[in-house]
Amino acid sequence: FNDEDGYVNHLFKRITENDRGSLARGITLIETTSEKKKIQAQLLLKKALHYNKEKESHLLNKTSSFRIGLSGPPGAGKSTFIEAFGQFLTEKGHKVAVLAVDPSSSQTGGSLLADKTRMQNLSVDMNAFIRPSPSKGTLGGVTRTTNEAIILCEAAGYDIILIETIGVGQSEFVVADMVDMFCLLIPPAGGDELQGIKRGIVEVADMVVVNKSDGDLVPAAIRIQLEYVSALKFVRPRSQNWKPDVVRISSLTGEGIPDLWKTISSYRHKLTDSRELFQKRENQKKIWMWNYIKDHIMDAFRVHPSVKKLIPNMEQQVKKGAITPGLAADSLIKEFMK
Ligand code: GDP
Repeated sequence: FNDEDGYVNHLFKRITENDRGSLARGITLIETTSEKKKIQAQLLLKKALHYNKEKESHLLNKTSSFRIGLSGPPGAGKSTFIEAFGQFLTEKGHKVAVLAVDPSSSQTGGSLLADKTRMQNLSVDMNAFIRPSPSKGTLGGVTRTTNEAIILCEAAGYDIILIETIGVGQSEFVVADMVDMFCLLIPPAGGDELQGIKRGIVEVADMVVVNKSDGDLVPAAIRIQLEYVSALKFVRPRSQNWKPDVVRISSLTGEGIPDLWKTISSYRHKLTDSRELFQKRENQKKIWMWNYIKDHIMDAFRVHPSVKKLIPNMEQQVKKGAITPGLAADSLIKEFMK
């Protein structure tokens, strides 16, 4: 295409016709760092946003999609679960998109999540789309593109969007801010404590799923379930219409997955009927606008020539107690605003 708008128009049309290759190309376009391509990406997103809005205007106060965040430590069984759950959903007639936010890939180049060798059955399912995590950029950049990839997947007709992340750094909180429901997947690991799981993440979970509740692991799974049930008693509910639940499943045998889906559907209905889901999405959009502003300004701040020169000295002085952190921040900001 000579004409760039023509290219975007064509790509968008193919995405809405559910051409998975075009959807993948669209997401690659969103991930671009080239300024010229960014303009195309924005155009594509604008079209998708408009299209989705139009689609939802016929749905009488329902969302056309449901976005589920899934977090859990490595080895919890996330990919096994997504494989089983994804197929369960496509058999029910849903279209499932799987996106990943992998903080490790941006730092080390290695990936802990959704690479192509995983989820082999789901990846050949015509009603599923699996996108490995973007490998470039900061966590902020990676999550930004994931947040926007959701919009494209929805335009392509995917009605269940699964966003996978591991409980490392801040990624789970970032994901919690882009989904309708946030689920924590944990293995029935030994110990009386909530092993390897930070407390904070339990506070943002709408549901805790104890995986591997099969065979010899059932007693341990029940024990962990009870621990989480009591841990959740001390967590202030985030929603007026929902109390986080702890369920047991086996991704290997599929046991518990239909019940899990019932619980998820009940959450969706309760939050839809009370309009909380809409408010949540509205609020998230506001959060993301500010996230982008923060990212952008921080980037500009760090590369600002005279600020950059001053930073090491300021950090030293703050560490030694020669000046207060507040004062150091003020003078750096003053330099930035000059
Ligand atoms: P991830 O790192 O969270 O994506 O975990 P994987 O899906 O790669 O699973 C880690 C290991 O746990 C693999 O050996 C799986 O076969 C095993 N696993 C996953 N789900 C289950 C389950 O429901 N039951 C049992 N017994 N093993 C499981």
